[in-house]
Amino acid sequence: MQHHPLSLQQLQESFTETYPRYTANEAVVEANRCLYCFDAPCIKACPTDIDVPTFIRKIATGNTLGAATTILESNLMGHTCGRVCPVDELCVGACVLGEEHRPIAIGRLQRYATDHLFQRGAMPFGAGASVGKRVAVVGSGPAGLTAAGELAKRGFAVDVFERNELPGGLSTYGIVVMREPVKVSLEEIEFVKRLGVSIHTGVEVGTDVLPQRLLEEYDAVVLAAGTGKVPELGVPGEELHGVIEALPFIAATKMAEKDGLENLHAVEVGNEVVVIGAGNTAIDAATIAKRLGAERVTMIYRRSRAEMTAYDFEVKFVQNEGVDIRLTTQPIEILGEGGRVTGIRCVRTELGEPDASGRRSPRPVPGSEFVIPCDHVIKAIGQEKLTQLFDAFGVATERGYVATDPDLRTSNPKVFAAGDCARLEGEALTVTAARDGKIVAKAIATQFGVPTTVVSRGSADRKDVVGRPIMGAPERAPGGALDGTHAGGGHG
Ligand code: SF4
Repeated sequence: MQHHPLSLQQLQESFTETYPRYTANEAVVEANRCLYCFDAPCIKACPTDIDVPTFIRKIATGNTLGAATTILESNLMGHTCGRVCPVDELCVGACVLGEEHRPIAIGRLQRYATDHLFQRGAMPFGAGASVGKRVAVVGSGPAGLTAAGELAKRGFAVDVFERNELPGGLSTYGIVVMREPVKVSLEEIEFVKRLGVSIHTGVEVGTDVLPQRLLEEYDAVVLAAGTGKVPELGVPGEELHGVIEALPFIAATKMAEKDGLENLHAVEVGNEVVVIGAGNTAIDAATIAKRLGAERVTMIYRRSRAEMTAYDFEVKFVQNEGVDIRLTTQPIEILGEGGRVTGIRCVRTELGEPDASGRRSPRPVPGSEFVIPCDHVIKAIGQEKLTQLFDAFGVATERGYVATDPDLRTSNPKVFAAGDCARLEGEALTVTAARDGKIVAKAIATQFGVPTTVVSRGSADRKDVVGRPIMGAPERAPGGALDGTHAGGGHG
C-alpha cells in the first residue's frame, strides 16, 4: 500500500460534494417549477413525512429559514438527508413531474435550505419544559440523535452515550465525503446539543457504563447502537498486511477531510485493490480507493446481481468510476509474500436454494479457481450483531436484531430500539433511522403521558405571514409534531 501523489486540485475534484450548491437564483427557479400538489405524492414517499411542497414554496417566496424549519420539524437529520437520501427511489421518484418532465430536485432544494440555516447558526426549536424524566440513548447515529432531539423538544432530559471520539455514527464516519463532508454531520450534532441533549463520547455501554446502571438510573433507554464489527472472512491469509476493513478505511478519509483535503495524502491505498462485498459500504470503499489513486479496483461478490442490495444507480456509478464488479466470485485464500498481500484466490460459484438469509446460497464450482493479483484487500462483508449488548439489556432478539413492536418497544418495557440494530426488515438508510428516532420518541412520550406534539420558537414560520425572515423572535407558535403535522403544512 502507498500514498499516491495526487495534486490538491485532483483531491478537490475527487473529494468535494458531487453536486454544487444551488445559488439563490437557481433554487428559486427550481422551486417555482413545483406544482404544490394537493395530496402530494412526494410527502407520502418520504419516510419522515417532510412537507415537501410547503418547504419548496417557502424557498420560492424567499423564506429559506422557514423552509429549513419545515424540513427539520419533520426530520432532525434533514441536513444529512438532503445529501444522502436515495431521492430517486423516494420523493423525487414520486414527483408527478417525473412522468413527462424533469422531476423537482427535492434533495438539492432541501440541502439549499438546511445549508442556509446551519450557516447562520439559526435555531428554530427549543428544549421543552421539563417533564421530570430521564432517557439514556445508546449510540449517536441518526436514529439515536433524532430520538434524543425529539425527546429533548418534549422536555425529557437526555444523555447519549457514544463509544467513538465523535458523535454522528455513519454520518460522521461512514458516508463518503463526496456525499457528506464531516462538517455537515458536526453541524447537525451541535443542533441537537442545542436542544439540551448531553452527548458523552468515548463511552462504550457494556464496557465503560454497565447496562444495568442505565436501566436503574433512567426512566427509559433507547438502543440505537447500530451494528458491530466486520466478521472474519474465515479464509487463510486474512492476517496479512494490506487486508483491512472498509469502514475504518472510509472513516480515515472522513477524518482526513475534516482537517483539510490535503490530509487525504496520508491515507494509504494499494495499486491493485480488491473489495470483498457488494453492498453500499463496498461501493463506497471501491469508489474511494479509485479516487485515492488505485490503478485497478475490483469488487467481488459470491452471489449475483439479484442478491445485491445496491441500487442500480449505485452500481452504474461505481462502474463509471472504473471499478470492475465480478459476480458469483468467492474468495477462498488471500495470498502473500513477506507478510504482504500479493493476490486473492477465488472460485466461481453457482447459486442454489435460499439460505437462512432468504437469499440463494452460493456453491463453489469445482475446478473454477483463479487468482486476482492485488496488494490491498478491503473487506465489506457486513457487520456482526451486538448480541452481547442486547442480552445485557434483557431484550429479545430475532436473527440477531432487537425484536420490537411497531412502536419500537422491545420485550423489556423500559427499553426501546431504533436504527440498524432493530432493522430486521427494510432498508438501512439515514432517513429510515431518523424515522425510527421519531417513532421511539413518540412512543416514550406516550408511555409517560407527555403530549407528542411540541411547540417550536416558530419565528421562521411567522415569516410566511410577514414575508421577512426574523429568527429568534420571542413569540411561540405551533411547530413540528412527531406525527408529521406542521404549522405551515397540512400534510401528515
Ligand atoms: Fe412539487 Fe413534485 Fe411534490 Fe408535486 S410531487 S408537490 S410537483 S415536488
